[in-house]
Amino acid sequence: MPRSRTETSGTCRPIVDATMAASLDWRMQAACRAKEPELFFPTSTSGPALRQVEAAKAVCHQCPVCAQCLDWAIGSGIDDGVWGGMTETERRSLARSRKHV
Ligand code: SF4
Repeated sequence: MPRSRTETSGTCRPIVDATMAASLDWRMQAACRAKEPELFFPTSTSGPALRQVEAAKAVCHQCPVCAQCLDWAIGSGIDDGVWGGMTETERRSLARSRKHV
């Protein structure tokens, strides 16, 4: 799971508190932990930024906790960046389809 923009800033609080941390142990296995967070936050999902989106997705597709990450991102309403191998638009579409099942 990429660190969110607020987590990467030295002046902002982490987005998770201690009580949430226990349920986020899967984050320790995240393939993106060794990557630059910016890779997962392209400035758009079209044009030249598509290469960045695809590079981020390639990391996700090799990640052992991709499913957990995707579920967490959808459940948490994360609306920015690539999480669980999907862009925000793709996650919104998946969330909508899950509601209709
Ligand atoms: S699925 Fe992608 S964003 Fe989520 S933890 Fe794995 S590498 Fe990180």
